[in-house]
Amino acid sequence: MNSINKNDIKVFRTENSKLDQTDFENLAFGQVFSDHMLTCDFKDGIWQKPIIEPYGPISLMPSAKIFHYGQSIFEGMKAYKDKDGKVFLFRPMENVKRLNKSAKRLAIPELPEDFFMEGLKALLEVEKDWIPEKEGSSLYIRPFVFATGEGFHASPANQYKFIIALAPSGAYFAGKVKVLIEEKYSRSANGGVGYAKAGGNYAGQFYPTQLAKDKGYQQVIWTDDTSHEYIEEAGAMNVFVRIKDTLLTSPTSDRILDGVTRKSVLKIAEDEGIKTEVRKVKVSEIVEAAKNGDLKEMFGAGTAAVISPISGFGFRDEDFELPELENSYAMRIKKRIVDIQTNKAEDPFGWRVQV
Ligand SMILES: *Cc1c(COP(=O)(O)O)cnc(C)c1O
Repeated sequence: MNSINKNDIKVFRTENSKLDQTDFENLAFGQVFSDHMLTCDFKDGIWQKPIIEPYGPISLMPSAKIFHYGQSIFEGMKAYKDKDGKVFLFRPMENVKRLNKSAKRLAIPELPEDFFMEGLKALLEVEKDWIPEKEGSSLYIRPFVFATGEGFHASPANQYKFIIALAPSGAYFAGKVKVLIEEKYSRSANGGVGYAKAGGNYAGQFYPTQLAKDKGYQQVIWTDDTSHEYIEEAGAMNVFVRIKDTLLTSPTSDRILDGVTRKSVLKIAEDEGIKTEVRKVKVSEIVEAAKNGDLKEMFGAGTAAVISPISGFGFRDEDFELPELENSYAMRIKKRIVDIQTNKAEDPFGWRVQV
């Protein structure tokens, strides 16, 4: 089997560190990149040894299949520093396994798990000074794989590249998010690639999302592709709805991405004694609840923002406002998750991994 230890990974250091010029007090989300990246090539039928090299441009042939057939997958995760400078990841094996689930669906060769984990640990060791310490900040980690092999023939490439790039980021703040429940366009379909973190899933969302923005909404709530009667995701986040005191979310399927945050929200809610139901949620049920006052909260869940509260939604030319709650489930659950991620609270679930 392919296996590697982080100490076997060669490091080629940059001579032009940007660390001193980086303003860690005013970081946006995913706009500044650290000095080094991990790279690893697949060729001759195997994943070659990963290396760490300066973050910089990569050179590809115009016939590289990523440009033509979109074989491209990614992950999103974060590293946190506690007040003593210790570094933590949050449920990282979930990301490793999901990358390979996505790889399989896109006919990309699966990556040995320790190339990812040991590679990431080695990279974080080199880049530890890039992990922000400021409250709410973190180091956003973007692992991705794409087809570098050449050919205009529509078939899987014979060469790929795995990269991990890092972006020190401030708190992700979307502000008040008004969403539009979408009935025409779909994010994913039965038997499709919706459960994979495939680049093309995002490309397909941009146009309908732009149309929603033109109408004054910030984001789209996707519904199922056949009946458009059930909600599925909020933009590129999983979606939760609170009706009275019950927290509802859709079951995962081949159309819905199995989010690490979604799983964590469900677990924390259970731990807090909040009633949860994982079942299909009808748009008509939400509209009804909004009309009779039973709809208390809606929020998106994903790594970037952890939880992103929704302030209102539009459906068929009607707008509905959500109440502003003092002690919302959204804020209670977010605090519990962030405190575990940043080593401010006990971690009864064993989610935190020190690196
Ligand atoms: C990444 C992603 C999520 C959130 O997943 P996390 O593991 O919680 O970050 C949800 N939906 C879609 C479509 C995604 O791409």
